[in-house]
Amino acid sequence: MQELKVLQKTATLHEARWWEPEPGGKVHCYLCPRHCHIGPGQSGFCFIRINQGGKLYSLGYASPAAIQIDPIEKKPLNHFLPGTRIFSLGTAGCNMGCFFCQNWDISKSRHDQVHSRYLPPEDVVALALRYGCPSIAFTYNEPTIWGEYVVDICHVAKQYGLNTVMVTNGYVTYEAFHDIYDHVDAANVDLKAFTEQFYAKITLTHLKPVLETLTWLKQETNVWFEITNLIIPTLNDDPKEIRSLAEWVLEHLGPDVPLHFTAFHPDFKLRDKPPTPPETLHRARRLALDVGLHFVYEGNIFSEGAHTYCPGCGVILIRRSWHDVLENRLRKGTCPDCGCTIPGVWTNPYGKTKHKPHHPTAQLAAKHDDLNL
Ligand code: SF4
Repeated sequence: MQELKVLQKTATLHEARWWEPEPGGKVHCYLCPRHCHIGPGQSGFCFIRINQGGKLYSLGYASPAAIQIDPIEKKPLNHFLPGTRIFSLGTAGCNMGCFFCQNWDISKSRHDQVHSRYLPPEDVVALALRYGCPSIAFTYNEPTIWGEYVVDICHVAKQYGLNTVMVTNGYVTYEAFHDIYDHVDAANVDLKAFTEQFYAKITLTHLKPVLETLTWLKQETNVWFEITNLIIPTLNDDPKEIRSLAEWVLEHLGPDVPLHFTAFHPDFKLRDKPPTPPETLHRARRLALDVGLHFVYEGNIFSEGAHTYCPGCGVILIRRSWHDVLENRLRKGTCPDCGCTIPGVWTNPYGKTKHKPHHPTAQLAAKHDDLNL
């Protein structure tokens, strides 16, 4: 069998975690519920985990294909350090096969089909510090598949008082779940629909593992997390499905987990569907609020549903326009009018970041001046 031609961006390939050898030189990757059994010279479904000589290696390690600084509201996170900037990175590949992927240029690419750059964990943290970002997001493609890199970045980030955020499809096994999530501070989990049919046909995965991840996050971690549901006309916009989703969130996660309904725009293999009408998002939000959820948002449109309202007295606490925070009236995480406590992380739990101009991190960051962030 012909070996994969690996465009090696680092001095050595990085051996993966979460795998075991199998007869015939195969390996079993148990990082995500796909449980790929990978033959010699081949990669898993996600493209970036490869079997070389009977060992599994991570091509995503220290090799981001997209690097950007975003408002944290773009992740979206509305209850985690609102109004701050977040250093964001992603690699090639993905473990889902969503027909509507909005980052398909990297997520559907192999490692050697994208422009990536060698960026070890120390350099990621140095750049985040240099650009004044209190947090780092693992985003754009599915970060679970480069979990080794995520965990190592988290370790360095903690030393410098930076927060870390997973923007994820939630498709991870329990064997790997705590290895990753015990080190991150926040997450946004895509709950892409509430039917197995949608997951099977449109994402080529399954619903149940995603629901399990959400319950593990709630019951077994201190990770602050929010949920996003991208509503696609005719595929997952049935009010009955939206009600069932909201009821499940209320029953299993409680009323305080923020839920974002966001608008679809035609992309990748789903160009035959129209953009989501704003009224669909308004209706979904009203439905979820009626079910009993306290914080329900509308995203990817200009809307009054972007603000944070006090569940106690109904006033606007954080006023937003798209991803911009226009006003934040919270006082130490409470409503200034009625005193209601608003769940979330409102101040950096690690205090101020420790970046100094003459610190070694400044030199590391300077190596990447050409990034023009
Ligand atoms: S992480 Fe990648 S290689 Fe591993 S099981 Fe999932 S899709 Fe397969």
